[in-house]
Amino acid sequence: MARVKTLLLGSGGREHALARSLASDPLVTALHAAPGNPGIAALATLHAVDAADPGAVVALARELAVDLVVIGPEAPLVAGVADALRAAGIDAFGPGREAAVLEGSKAFAKDVMAAAGVPTAEARVCESREEYEAALGAFGAPYVVKNDGLAAGKGVVVTDDRDAALAHAESCGRVVIEDYLDGPEVSLFAICDGVRGLPLMPAQDYKRVGDGDAGPNTGGMGAYSPLTWADPGLVDQIMTEVVDPTLREMARRGTPFIGLLYAGLALTSKGLRVVEFNVRFGDPETQAVLALLKTPLGGVLRAAARGELDAVGELEWLDGAAVVVVEAAEGYPGTPVTGTPITLPPDEADAYVLHAGTRLDGDEVVSSGGRVLGIVGRGADVEEARSRAYALVSQVRLEGGFHRTDVGLPH
Ligand code: AMP
Repeated sequence: MARVKTLLLGSGGREHALARSLASDPLVTALHAAPGNPGIAALATLHAVDAADPGAVVALARELAVDLVVIGPEAPLVAGVADALRAAGIDAFGPGREAAVLEGSKAFAKDVMAAAGVPTAEARVCESREEYEAALGAFGAPYVVKNDGLAAGKGVVVTDDRDAALAHAESCGRVVIEDYLDGPEVSLFAICDGVRGLPLMPAQDYKRVGDGDAGPNTGGMGAYSPLTWADPGLVDQIMTEVVDPTLREMARRGTPFIGLLYAGLALTSKGLRVVEFNVRFGDPETQAVLALLKTPLGGVLRAAARGELDAVGELEWLDGAAVVVVEAAEGYPGTPVTGTPITLPPDEADAYVLHAGTRLDGDEVVSSGGRVLGIVGRGADVEEARSRAYALVSQVRLEGGFHRTDVGLPH
């Protein structure tokens, strides 16, 4: 296969995990990142370019003569960076602006699912107080109110408090109000080439800020993979009932989906239901899933970008399990304290630190966001992976920082 000079867009923990996987692919002869972070700097050449500026990204990709651009976060996708790259003849892993609306608008996602026959919660799009009240009354408690727009994983309120549900709806304007889904949640990622989807290993994340799923939702406080408790047929079922029909419907609409389709699912008492779609690798599940991926990633993402996934066999995985624990800054998920110096332990064979919200202040690594680090542990099973991750977490120094202590435990 051809060599893959790669440009990775983004600066979070997910991108540090992607950078690790890409850097270890022998086909990836050069790795660049924009803007990257201090962790990614050890693996890639960084460029201070705005990843969400299509013109600037195309210019950088041309200047570097890269074969592939991997788009990490949603903002560049929604800004049309993948479209601009493809128009310039550059292979991009990531959906175009119109396909990215699967994540950008919950109402659009519901419409695609209805047309494709994909099982999901019954929902209503509401824009006025009258509509909010009618929908809350119809579905009953617990209430689920979702901002119909990009909200970095924080636009959803699930509550028994009707006034809080109403207040959230009013602060958003246009919302989707839907039926509450019970049962465990599962995240499945599929690498897609517009026609075909290749599943990664399913994972489970920990969305609430506190132990025991207490407190508000966050972007994600930890994750583990694989799900040894799940039915062995689960991945096939999700591909058949969710991913394949969604890809067919997107292609039928003239907006084929190239990139990472992330299905957030609830395994309810009535069967599998989609909770949400995202159009990029999930953070922090990616950090756990990629820790187990044996197949070199660069060649697979390039094949997907070129519509050639047919030539790629099933992905291969390491035995065992991986756990990622997020170390967050004081104040998160509200306004985090930033600029705090961080002391990082050295990586070990089966445990390592990924940078998420960090930057350099002179020579010193300091915090720059709410989720500061992701600490990954790998082991023969989730228990061993978990204990290795937490052993390394205990060596991290970040004043005011905190983490959940129950990542990897049933929840
Ligand atoms: P979303 O941004 O749609 O993934 O929602 C964020 C989180 O809110 C999900 O991971 C769930 O934990 C919760 N959630 C969303 N929709 C529902 C639902 N219909 N029923 C129960 N929980 C939900």
